[in-house]
Amino acid sequence: MKPDLFEAPDYYNLDELLSEEHKLVRDAAREWVKRDVSPIIEEYAQKAEFPNQIIGGLAEIGAFGPYIPVEYGGAGLDQISYGLIMQEIERGDSGVRSTASVQSSLVMYPIWKYGNEEQRQKYLPKLASGEWMGCFGLTEPDHGSNPGGMVTNFKDMGDHYLLNGAKMWISNAPFAQVAVVWAKNEEGRIHGLIVERGMEGFSTPETHNKWSLRASATGELIFDNVKVPKENLLPNKSGLGAPLGCLDSARYGIAWGAIGAAMDCYDTALRYSKERIQFGKPIGQFQLQQKKLAEMITELTKAQLLTWRLGVLRNEGKATSAQISMAKRNNVDMAINIAREARQMLGGMGITGEYSIMRHSMNLESVITYEGTHDIHLLITGLDITGLNAFK
Ligand SMILES: Cc1cc2nc3c(=O)[nH]c(=O)nc-3n(C[C@H](O)[C@H](O)[C@H](O)COP(=O)(O)OP(=O)(O)OC[C@H]3O[C@@H](n4cnc5c(N)ncnc54)[C@H](O)[C@@H]3O)c2cc1C
Repeated sequence: MKPDLFEAPDYYNLDELLSEEHKLVRDAAREWVKRDVSPIIEEYAQKAEFPNQIIGGLAEIGAFGPYIPVEYGGAGLDQISYGLIMQEIERGDSGVRSTASVQSSLVMYPIWKYGNEEQRQKYLPKLASGEWMGCFGLTEPDHGSNPGGMVTNFKDMGDHYLLNGAKMWISNAPFAQVAVVWAKNEEGRIHGLIVERGMEGFSTPETHNKWSLRASATGELIFDNVKVPKENLLPNKSGLGAPLGCLDSARYGIAWGAIGAAMDCYDTALRYSKERIQFGKPIGQFQLQQKKLAEMITELTKAQLLTWRLGVLRNEGKATSAQISMAKRNNVDMAINIAREARQMLGGMGITGEYSIMRHSMNLESVITYEGTHDIHLLITGLDITGLNAFK
């Protein structure tokens, strides 16, 4: 792979809206990605393997629980810093960002928000340091966009719960020590349970043959009469709103992350357009190529502004789920379009692993599907503005 020469586009001087702390956090993540992710990521994506050696670095830049209080091992940062970390990691690779998002927003967040003090003390510091990795089991083979229909269930056996069912498409599953699993009790109410590797009847087979997010490990969670201790139930929230609350936090991170992937594609295409000579001129001098670049930076800038404002609303505790849906949907769509255009601008070189664009392009096919598909987020906006529910 070519050396990482990334220079971040900031067409509307958005850096002026960031605090010194934001910039320090962002720059530390950016440097780490250049040093420890860019040189190895193409090789790991090609061999479809998660690079375990970067876990310590992810913990050091605060990617595991950026906004979790420091007393639990988190970085105690605000929502904009959290977003900037996700942006920088996904600038390197969406699969690496997925690992960090799952750990922070889908495992640490529910334990912090819905767990009791013993659970927080037991799990959060180990997850923040990367000593333990976590995964989040919501999606099932027959229930993806409609998680409320889940069939995974648990029964109260007096001194423990008995968990049965299966989850599919679970990021980090093959190596996670801890799984936050959503399952229905005998009354059909959804609860979160913390399941640990090693519990009898619990297995995590890996999902192979992915053309997307190849540097992120994906698997199933299988529960065959798993005895879960009663103290592993998350006591402080139940119902579908509990997993959806985690998804709000993760989708917000994805909105920032997609900007990172798009920035990398734009920056690569811009540099290439000045270096590649055809018909005696740099291709960037041709109007058709300038149109592509001009539209890319316009869409990227709009997404940056949308996301920065969403971060301010999140910091004030005012962002709605529907606003987060809009940003996730818009930004991933923006990124996937920029990746496609950028890849064309590199001609044949664009399909090789010499450059990051094709990997971003393939990764974004997962990002546009997980945590609510492109169409599902559109329906969430539709419901929000009309008050009419297209899901029923
Ligand atoms: C790489 C990867 C990692 C993932 N990681 C996780 C994870 O860590 N944890 C987890 O729980 N899940 C995870 N997922 C699952 C992901 O969230 C689901 O794939 C996603 O929610 C879509 O579900 P589905 O694949 O079953 O598609 P379906 O729900 O079957 O949807 C198929 C199509 O139908 C459309 N559709 C569905 N319902 C409607 C409707 N009402 N109106 C209009 N169109 C509709 C969808 O938009 C989509 O285009 C991951 C997925 C991938 C690919």
